[in-house]
Amino acid sequence: MTHEIVPDQYNENIDLGRFIHEFYYKRDKKEIRFGNVVFDILYEKNNRLIIGETKKSSKFSEASKWQLIYYLKILKDAGIIAEGMLSFPEERKKIEVKLSAEAELELEKILKDIDDIINQPNPPKVSKNNFCKNCGYKEYCFS
Ligand code: SF4
Repeated sequence: MTHEIVPDQYNENIDLGRFIHEFYYKRDKKEIRFGNVVFDILYEKNNRLIIGETKKSSKFSEASKWQLIYYLKILKDAGIIAEGMLSFPEERKKIEVKLSAEAELELEKILKDIDDIINQPNPPKVSKNNFCKNCGYKEYCFS
């Protein structure tokens, strides 16, 4: 976590996410730590290495997709070619995620934007948006 700022661990969405992860993967616990990232699951299917993330809702699947693309890039840089799978157990839904050349370019831009924000002397002004309601950082932004 940048600047050692972690989300509110008592936030009900973070609690729920933790519960879903533990409930659905209790029997298949294969959480993998690789460098400073942790994948929920890792398995092989049809000779392809798959890393997976389980989420409580597909509402923010775009952000979840980029999280997985970031993990796939870290693996690729280490010489490991993998694909991603997002799972939304409560919706019985899965989304495949691949690290395409376009995705790599877009990821580079996203990481640069993040770096630019991190390196600002002060955080940007709070701008309330659709994500704030369920965000684990809202206590920091709005207190
Ligand atoms: S502005 Fe909203 S979405 Fe962004 S960190 Fe703060 S609470 Fe979360």
